[in-house]
Amino acid sequence: MYIGRFAPSPTGPLHFGSLVAAVASYCDARKNNGQWLLRMEDLDKPRTVKGAADTILHQLESFGFEWDGPVLYQSERDSFYHDALAALKAKLLIYPCTCTRKEIHDSSIAFGIEGVIYPGTCLQQPIKPNAPIAWRIKSDNVKISFHDAIQGQISQTLNTDIGDYILKRADGLFAYQLAVVVDDAAQGITHVVRGADLLDSTPRQIYLQRMLGYQSPMYAHIPVATNAAGEKLSKQTLAKAIIDECAAELIINVLEFLGQHPEKTLNNASLQDIWHWATHHWDIQKVPRTRTIPVQL
Ligand code: GLU
Ligand code: ZN
Repeated sequence: MYIGRFAPSPTGPLHFGSLVAAVASYCDARKNNGQWLLRMEDLDKPRTVKGAADTILHQLESFGFEWDGPVLYQSERDSFYHDALAALKAKLLIYPCTCTRKEIHDSSIAFGIEGVIYPGTCLQQPIKPNAPIAWRIKSDNVKISFHDAIQGQISQTLNTDIGDYILKRADGLFAYQLAVVVDDAAQGITHVVRGADLLDSTPRQIYLQRMLGYQSPMYAHIPVATNAAGEKLSKQTLAKAIIDECAAELIINVLEFLGQHPEKTLNNASLQDIWHWATHHWDIQKVPRTRTIPVQL
């Protein structure tokens, strides 16, 4: 049984970087006779661009992706995130925090892999009355290890590498880390194939899965596409939207990027033939751990 997924954030149209994640997760699912589900991560309403979700669905369709079942929209799932947070609260694993960013920076003495570590202020003293409340999970002195199908053995000690992390923000939005765990479980995801920019988030997600009594999926983190300046391709780095007319050529470029060595004969082939080749020849062992060659855009 294999259930995979692609979970774009609708902050703009798909670009080469997001196409890489779509192709890798799709090929891995189809090669393993699995399902491939779609989820729109439109949780961060301020960052969500109106119409981008529909644009992405149209792009996927014209590129020839075939997804299974209905698309899940995170914007419609607050009640499920709320229930998960309540379950963690009942287990005394989370606590309210009213610290501002500045207060945390001024009082923190420890650094982790993502910057300052929350010093636990609100665990030790009463929270400020009438201040907006964020909810944090106690990170605990727990070592999370997992085997990534591409990146190999990964380990993190949550309290020294990350610190107590936010599950619900002070502005009322649920955090990505909580939503992704609730939704991967709700959709029955068995295999997560996504960009290596999320590798450092995975131990946080595995910890939540354990605390919520969910099974952890298998993980494979593909190399991240960068521009000539070494920046991850994103809307912020002005990655160009991919255009439908170039679908066949782009998919071949993505397969090349993913180390699959597409046959020369595919250069003039139809989309259908390219997908046939890609989903039958997909070999996750061939995917490189990192990619230093910038993508020409
Ligand atoms: N929505 C995330 C992104 O577009 C991906 C989340 C995931 O695959 O877990 O970067
Ligand atoms: Zn605090």
